[in-house]
Amino acid sequence: MTNKITFQEIVGFIKSLYPNDNPIPLHAPRFLGREKEYLTKCIDTTFVSYVGQFVNDFEEHIKRLTGAKHAIAIVNGTCALKLLLIAAGVKPGDEIITQAISFVATAAAIKHAGAEPIFIDVEEETLGMSPDSLRFFLKKNAVIKNKILINKKTGNRIFAVIPMHTFGHPVRIDEIANICLEYNILLIEDAAESLGSYYKNKHTGTFGKAAILSFNGNKIVTTGGGGMVISDDQELIDRARHLSTTAKKKHPWEFYHDMVGYNYRLPNINAAIGCAQMEYIEKTLKNKKETAALYKSYFSQSKYIFIKEPEDSCSNYWLNGIIFKNKEERDEFLEFSNANGVQTRPVWKLIPFLPPYKSCYLEKIPVSKILESRIVNLPSSIRV
Ligand SMILES: *Cc1c(COP(=O)(O)O)cnc(C)c1O
Repeated sequence: MTNKITFQEIVGFIKSLYPNDNPIPLHAPRFLGREKEYLTKCIDTTFVSYVGQFVNDFEEHIKRLTGAKHAIAIVNGTCALKLLLIAAGVKPGDEIITQAISFVATAAAIKHAGAEPIFIDVEEETLGMSPDSLRFFLKKNAVIKNKILINKKTGNRIFAVIPMHTFGHPVRIDEIANICLEYNILLIEDAAESLGSYYKNKHTGTFGKAAILSFNGNKIVTTGGGGMVISDDQELIDRARHLSTTAKKKHPWEFYHDMVGYNYRLPNINAAIGCAQMEYIEKTLKNKKETAALYKSYFSQSKYIFIKEPEDSCSNYWLNGIIFKNKEERDEFLEFSNANGVQTRPVWKLIPFLPPYKSCYLEKIPVSKILESRIVNLPSSIRV
């Protein structure tokens, strides 16, 4: 039994995984394909901005991998989510149910779109939205009036449910999708962290009306900054595309804008990097799986719980993590590892306790609270 592995030993093990990184970042971008070649091509052809072949190719890559029928590349994931909500018809004052554990962008985008987040609990097994918590909230608060789902307590429309696949681990999305069907409520997935993750062999982000992806610098595929809306709904994607390109009607020279549009399209230079990265996505996913297996086996005999992919799913293992028995020990480990050249991070502070979200509706969230105080993310870059 290696029950008593020391922090020193854990740090040593992580250094053995990343012998070429010093200090070792949590998740560094890697450029292992034709990134430079494609960037040069953008400059040589002058196609550096919002129009260009790489934008189209990048969307095709994402459609192929996810199986979504349509995709539109956007400047970043946060804007993609805001834009998607607006294209889907969100109205000021609408309420949107999401989970207490997520990167803050999920809630920020809901607010940007003029809606109010409602926070519910996550499950220990997936770290993502709990179907039980969702059902509990809806049973207690929701009523269908004229085919519209209303929150009895506030009188406002409940517009959508947005689960998030934490660290790349799929939530029980089929069950959440069933609840959404039952209540006639829009399902939008925040799949920002789960490119290459599958639930029951179906790519995350393809279970509801639409989803967003992110290609920020620390994500599994990066475009520097970038995002995507994916959906099977042609009309919705057309609307999002129109809104993202200043709502300009297509015309060789006229400037005619029929809505208040945004300037949210992904530039060709960013898409060029994304295309190069997508050419070796399978290699990336394999490398990440191997790293996860090494961590898993290392911690298997210890008192630390390695966060493994949930049942029925295949995770991209974007960020590996372990769960400590208590907050004190977790905090000591954060101190020790960061002081010794290994970047580790706690999970995000629970969004409903951040100042701008304190007044939002909060369901009971016992699991989120426990996880918040015990999770540590470990270095997870591609090992080169
Ligand atoms: C990264 C991320 C986003 C979007 O981030 P951008 O940096 O705007 O691309 C949204 N939600 C979650 C959960 C994320 O991790």
